[in-house]
Amino acid sequence: MSKEVIIIGAGPGGLATAIQLAASGVRVKILERLPIIGGRTSTIEADGYKFDLGPTFFLYPRVLGEIFKSAGTTLEREVEMVRLDPQYRIAFGAGGRLDCTPNILEMEKQIATLAPADAPNFKKFLDENRTKLALMEPCLETPFHGWKDVFNRRLLELLPWLRPHQSVDDYLKRFFKDERVRLAFCFQSKYLGMSPFRCPSLFSILSFLEYEHGVWHPIGGCGAVTKAMARVAEQLGVEIRLNEPVEEILFAGRRAVGLRTASGTHHADAVVVNADFARAMERLVPDQLRRRWTNAKLAKKKYSCSTFMMYLGVEGEFNLPHHTIHIAENYAKNLDDIENQHVLSEDSSFYVQNACVTDPTLAPKGHSALYVLAPVTHQHPNVDWSQQRDRFRAHLINQMTKIGYTDIERRIRYERVITPAEWDTRYEIYRGATFNLAHTLDQMLHLRPHNRFEDLDGVYLVGGGTHPGSGLPVIFESARISSKLVLEDFGMPTAVPSRSDELLNAARTYQPIAQ
Ligand SMILES: Cc1cc2nc3c(=O)[nH]c(=O)nc-3n(C[C@H](O)[C@H](O)[C@H](O)COP(=O)(O)OP(=O)(O)OC[C@H]3O[C@@H](n4cnc5c(N)ncnc54)[C@H](O)[C@@H]3O)c2cc1C
Repeated sequence: MSKEVIIIGAGPGGLATAIQLAASGVRVKILERLPIIGGRTSTIEADGYKFDLGPTFFLYPRVLGEIFKSAGTTLEREVEMVRLDPQYRIAFGAGGRLDCTPNILEMEKQIATLAPADAPNFKKFLDENRTKLALMEPCLETPFHGWKDVFNRRLLELLPWLRPHQSVDDYLKRFFKDERVRLAFCFQSKYLGMSPFRCPSLFSILSFLEYEHGVWHPIGGCGAVTKAMARVAEQLGVEIRLNEPVEEILFAGRRAVGLRTASGTHHADAVVVNADFARAMERLVPDQLRRRWTNAKLAKKKYSCSTFMMYLGVEGEFNLPHHTIHIAENYAKNLDDIENQHVLSEDSSFYVQNACVTDPTLAPKGHSALYVLAPVTHQHPNVDWSQQRDRFRAHLINQMTKIGYTDIERRIRYERVITPAEWDTRYEIYRGATFNLAHTLDQMLHLRPHNRFEDLDGVYLVGGGTHPGSGLPVIFESARISSKLVLEDFGMPTAVPSRSDELLNAARTYQPIAQ
């Protein structure tokens, strides 16, 4: 009899794990509480409009490409992808803008319009981060069980590059003197729900990834990617049950032996948790079974910011970029409001996706599907969303005029708003912290919940709440790590590919440029 694994949740992490386990001969069942697949990477479809619920930036397709390959298909065959150029526009509240492009000469020209002296350092930034990524990748592909793993040769090699006590913004000062230029290369820490003034410097690789490997738009949106993953998983024999919330993980001692849902009990040789980590622990595992991640300890951890969302079906088309990021004039104050004061800003940073300029499948002809996101505090007693929702919505509609979205209100034909309160209750995300546990150094590597979950036997974690962290490429990496561990524990061969040795050898020959 082949082994049976049950995965809680059909988010990108759960689907990627299902594909790899099924391709290795394991029987896999996914139980998903919602009526649709994809989790935070799903699609809102209404009145002829389509919006991504969460992710809109598809970065570093290599990892998912390899996962599809292990299932006998390719990413290109399953999803049509367009590389964006310009990748996005950054509009600075403090004045000026950049249409960021991977074309090095053009990007140098753009930077020179803000700060001529910074322009030549763009290429130096890329060169240094190419090496940094090559040294980091093996660490992202490896599970971290304890301090022993931290002191392995690969991580020690990376240490001089990590500059653990530097933030991304501090690190960038070596290359760029103009604050706006630095912001263009560090606002990406918001993908992790963190301020670039606190986010560890190693995450400078995020902007590098965009320039080197592209910002991609999957036709149909990122939700088309999870739909394709579900299709591939089902072709491999994975059973996906929707509308099937898991109510409890069943244990014999500390070992997980199955799950309970409203339809009955389900036996499993191993359980993979893709559901939001902190919420799943609270809801599905008795507190007394946990040692390191008790409810009291979970409450003391640091969590990412949340997001206020508007999905607007609007009559008319906009000759504006696919992605525009507006950075508040006083960005430091905006971040302080979000992360420390837990209040709503008078001048918020925000982001608008106008994907119809690339992908007409997302709205009826002559209409646009606009996605608006503003980073805000996670759930906190300071903000009562039942009181603040309408006021903040009006504030954002007003903010949108700053980047060219004028006369919107009158033309809205479909609208949906999601506040942090809804992320918390409808999407079951702890404190509505949309990017999981914060990515501070004290909550990373072996200090993040382990892929082979340390508090229980037969339980594995996958997704943004475990190592390496939040964001689609690393979530796919977490799926590869956890699948390998499950197969290893079943005594089955692990055929999950890795490119890290090749990258490492290339990186070892690089000499950093002194600044
Ligand atoms: C607004 C927003 C924007 C983002 N933008 C980007 C971006 O541009 N690029 C990027 O790379 N990343 C982005 N992310 C981050 C991240 O890539 C996504 O959140 C991603 O979907 C997280 O994947 P996951 O597998 O960890 O979990 P999820 O997508 O949350 O999936 C978990 C699944 O578990 C299910 N579940 C929960 N509890 C139960 C239960 N009891 N029983 C059964 N099922 C359960 C949930 O319904 C869900 O389907 C964004 C996130 C958000 C919220």
